[in-house]
This record gives sequence, structure tokens and C-alpha cells, in this order.
Amino acid sequence: MAVPQNKVSKARRNWRRSHHALSGANPNECDNCGELKRPHHVCPSCGHYNDREIVAAADEVELDDDAA
Ligand SMILES: [Zn+2]
Repeated sequence: MAVPQNKVSKARRNWRRSHHALSGANPNECDNCGELKRPHHVCPSCGHYNDREIVAAADEVELDDDAA
């Protein structure tokens, strides 16, 4: 197994990790309901994308207990 020839100092290790930080999300407001949503994704609260309803909202779907 390959073994590092030299110890990586804390400074070099931290210098390498200086680019590892995660950037925050950049949410947009939904044009239909105004909730914050991820860009280029269907709105999770109303199911709209580009002013069209793509996914029916959860409270609009009729769930039949006998069907399952
Ligand atoms: Zn929405």
C-alpha cells in the first residue's frame, strides 16, 4: 500500500481544504404561490413550473384507502 513520504502539515492540509466550503442554496420565489423554491425545479408546495401545474398538490389528490 502506498504510504505518504512526508507528513502533511496542518497549514498545508488547511490550505488545501480552503476550497472545500459548501455554498448556500440560491432559492427563487415561486411565480404561482410565492414560496421559496430551488431554481429549475418544480415548486414543492404548489407543483407549478413555468406557470403550468406539473405535479398535483398533495391536498388535491384523492386517496382511496380501499384501492391500496
Ligand atoms: Zn409554488
